[in-house]
Order: sequence, then C-alpha cells, then structure tokens
Amino acid sequence: MGRYDTVLIRYGELTTKGKNRKDFIRRLDQNIRRILKDFPDLKYRRTYDRIYIEMNDEDPQIIRERLQKVYGISSFSFTESVPSDLEAIKKACLQIAVEAGGKTFKVKARRHDKTFPLNSDGINRAVAAEILKNTEHKVDVHNPDFLIQIEVHADRTYLTSEKIPGAGGYPTGINGKCLVMLSGGIDSPVAAAQIMKRGIEVEAVHFASPPYTSDNARQKVLDLAGMLSIYQGKMKVHIVNFTDLQLAIYKHAGDPYAVTLMRRMMFRIAEQIARERGCLVIGTGESVGQVASQTLESIACINAVVSTPILRPLACMDKVEIINMARQLGTYETSILPFEDCCTIFDPKNPVTKPTAEKAEKLEERFDYRAMTEACVRERETITVSCEEEKQEDFL
Ligand code: ATP
Ligand code: MG
Repeated sequence: MGRYDTVLIRYGELTTKGKNRKDFIRRLDQNIRRILKDFPDLKYRRTYDRIYIEMNDEDPQIIRERLQKVYGISSFSFTESVPSDLEAIKKACLQIAVEAGGKTFKVKARRHDKTFPLNSDGINRAVAAEILKNTEHKVDVHNPDFLIQIEVHADRTYLTSEKIPGAGGYPTGINGKCLVMLSGGIDSPVAAAQIMKRGIEVEAVHFASPPYTSDNARQKVLDLAGMLSIYQGKMKVHIVNFTDLQLAIYKHAGDPYAVTLMRRMMFRIAEQIARERGCLVIGTGESVGQVASQTLESIACINAVVSTPILRPLACMDKVEIINMARQLGTYETSILPFEDCCTIFDPKNPVTKPTAEKAEKLEERFDYRAMTEACVRERETITVSCEEEKQEDFL
C-alpha cells in the first residue's frame, strides 16, 4: 500500500443539479473531514465530481474503514500519483500490473486535462502495450482479472487498480432532521442508519422505566447511539422517564390494551419532542407483522394519535435481513445484550392484535394522560453522544 499516496473519492452517481449539488458536495466534504479529524496531516482537494485526499503516510487501513462509513460516497480508490508524463505513467502502471493478482487486464484512462498529448484511447493503448511487452499478461476488455484506472490531470495523474464500494446514499445532514425512537433492540438502530443514509440527521428518543429498567439498559442505548453517531459526528439522545405513565396505563387500562396505549403515548411524546427540535419526521424500527403491536390494525391505531409523518425503513423487511444489516452496522452484539426494556418488563399476557382507536380513546379517558405526557416531555434528559470514543477503539 506504501506507494498509494492519494485517496480518490467518487460521488458521480448523484443526479441532483445546481444548488443541491453544491450542498451535497459541501456536506460530503465536511462529513469526510469530520470522520478523519484525528488525521490533521491529510490534504483535501475538490473537483467537480471527485474529492482527493493526500494521505501523507497516514494509515490507509483506518482511512479505508472510516470512509466506508460516510454516506454519499459511491466508491473510492487508493491511488498512486505520478507526474502527468506518459513515460512516468507507463512505468508506474507496469509496476501495478506486475504486483496485481491476476493475468488478464484492462486499462481505462480518463483525460481531465485536454492538453495532454494523447487522448484516452491513446493512453489506454500505450499503457497496455507497455504491460504486454514486459509481462505475460493478456488484455481482456470484458472480464479482466484487474482493471488499471488512470486519471490524467494537469499536474498529477492518479493510478489505481482497485475500487472500494462506498456506503452510497446521501451525505447525512443535507435532508433535514428526524427523531428516531431508539429502543436498544436490534431493529431501531438499523432503522436509524437507514434514515441517516437518506441524508437525514438523526436525534434519538428513548423511553426508560427506572427502576424497572436498569442503568445497564440505559447505557446500552447510549452505546448504540455512540456507534450510530459515527455517521453524523454527534447524536442527541432524549431520555424520557416513562415509569409513571406506564404504571398509570396498567392501573387504568388493564392488560390487553396496555401495549397499544403505551405505544400511543410514546408517539405523542415523540411528536412533541420532534416539534421542539425541528424534526419534520419520526422514525421507528417497526416491521409489519413482527409482534402483536405491529399488525396493520395496531400500526393504524397507534399512528392515529400523531400527524407527524413516520418513517419506517424496516416496515417490509424480514428479521433475517434486519439482523444481517445490524451485523454489518456493528450494532448487533450490543443490541442482543439481555437488559430489560420498558416493553419487556410490562409484557402483557394477552395483547390485542386488532386494537381499535375508539376503544383506545375510551380507555385513555380514564386518566389524565395529557398532563403526564407533557411532564415526560418537559422533564426529559438530553445527552449528546459523540463518536470520538468509538473512534478511539479503532486503535486498540
Ligand atoms: P427494536 O428491535 O427496535 O426494539 P422491536 O422489534 O423490539 O424493535 P417493538 O418493541 O414493538 O419492536 O418496538 C417497535 C419500535 O418502537 C422500535 O423499533 C422503536 O423504534 C420503538 N420503541 C420501542 N420501545 C422503545 C423504547 N423503549 N424507547 C424508544 N423507542 C422504542
Ligand atoms: Mg424492542
């Protein structure tokens, strides 16, 4: 990897134009600099459809792992840069071909500097001829073992034979804010990541019921938020004390409707916090049919109490798919730690699977839930978690 001195970052697939494009690139640039903030010697350069980072001998492995966590990058490559001179280009490409695993190759040049004496095709031919003359390799334009990419600019030319897939999506932060209901389970962290991938910044709300739920359960949610914050730098977590409201629900409404009412209260509280915080949407990890509270009847009955749009990125995914995504995201191992959640503690024996809004409203009339939800909103605790601790673990 030693020769590779510059990272070339592609975001070419975005279709947005004009001001949107400028915002996209500016935010992507910011997000990249932030995730690599602890490498002050990196040097950045931006062109119309690329960002270049000169590595100054920093560790490529860590830079690679970090860049794979930046939404908005379609792909990136570690490149060797040489002077824009045909002999230098040929020599360096030959070296890449000798070191590359494989026997068949293709050369793909792009001439950004139109004053370069050869056009793209001419460069392809000259470089291929050099490799054919000095090695046993063969050209295969359809299915090569390796592809040598050449980007000629006025002063420097960038060479690479590998293309690393980026995370795709949009740079987090360009599309407004969402309040995600973060439970500590497997699903909601995955949902939060999906939402961030659409360019949306996430704040989290968590409902805790101490002393029925433990400090460990609370810490688990903060740890998950810390992992997620890598994608956007920091994350605000609103922790709502849900105990009194939950006890009131059980006292006044009884067993079958308890979960329905509890979730209606969660949505009401989330909506108020979302309004206060300028979040235009609320996100959840709900998946249709997974549990009693996620039948279509339940979703409708719960959703009826808010007018804020709800994003449910996992609505139509299988549990297996969600688990795979959680593994990839790195949240799975933390999510399965066996700490009690407010839902598991008050788990009713016979939850309704087809609740109705009328019945729910009737039961809610039995106590002053409005005052209680308002108190929940007012007395919440807000903690800002940052990704810096997560990053430190990279080095351990
Ligand atoms: P998860 O794995 O995300 O906990 P789940 O499959 O356990 O989801 P539910 O417990 O029915 O499903 O919760 C559905 C969604 O409601 C969660 O994905 C989350 O968005 C929200 N939610 C549930 N419990 C809480 C909580 N204690 N605090 C915040 N949000 C919650
Ligand atoms: Mg849960």
